[in-house]
Amino acid sequence: ILQMKDIVKQFAGCLALDHVNFSMQKGETVAIIGPSGSGKSTLLRCINCLERITSGSITLNGDTFVETKAGMKAVYLPDKSLKNICAETGMIFQHFNLFPHMTCLENVCYAPVKVKKQKKEEAQARGRQLLDMVGLSQKGEAYPAQLSGGQKQRVAIARGLAMNPEIMLFDEPTSALDPEITGEVLSVMRKLSKEHTTMVIVTHEMGFAKEVADRVIFMDAGKIVEEGTAEDIFQNPKSERLKDFLSSVL
Ligand code: ATP
Ligand code: MG
Repeated sequence: ILQMKDIVKQFAGCLALDHVNFSMQKGETVAIIGPSGSGKSTLLRCINCLERITSGSITLNGDTFVETKAGMKAVYLPDKSLKNICAETGMIFQHFNLFPHMTCLENVCYAPVKVKKQKKEEAQARGRQLLDMVGLSQKGEAYPAQLSGGQKQRVAIARGLAMNPEIMLFDEPTSALDPEITGEVLSVMRKLSKEHTTMVIVTHEMGFAKEVADRVIFMDAGKIVEEGTAEDIFQNPKSERLKDFLSSVL
């Protein structure tokens, strides 16, 4: 469903992604782990076009929307189709980013109505279903300020799903939460993974990565250093860098 070939992302004075190759199958759950600054967020941001790659190619569902040849600048598809690509990836951030002046239901329905031109009633019906799915059927009319962190993050997940994206991207969705409420967010993600939602999760929750991921990727210094099943990565790490990392976090 997704292929990223030879991706380079250069920031001023910093090579954030150093020739990364990454692809995903439909229905797969991939966890990305690695030390701070290794390029995990940058990789997600390149998938949904929040960041423009320096070179490489990205193909989503057979549409190659950006491509470069050696020494050339990356060329993106015209902006209109780029918007479609972004709409096909739902991104969940560490800090929820809900619209504070809208109710939860309005947050969830906003993009389907604005971007996908869904009818309001239709979007609301689906929005209520999704709020129900994340365990917040009672909170449709509440404003974000009236919710706990875990509840806000669950609204953010419902909002991401409302666009029916091909891939859900999660960037440390629980790291801003108190430990006792991370569980409610993880259990929503566990449910999505079981339903074969295609998802990429950047996480510091090693136990959770081990449990849900079909494949785990370890990044360091802008490169994918090792990838494999949870068992490969956590029980049989090969590289010294991964061994060091695991011993520092586990
Ligand atoms: P963390 O676990 O702390 O979130 P990360 O693996 O997500 O780290 P990235 O945020 O992808 O790391 O950053 C990778 C590298 O790119 C870092 O060295 C960072 O300083 C650099 N970087 C990221 N965004 C920018 C930017 N907008 N401008 C310049 N450098 C950036
Ligand atoms: Mg990050």
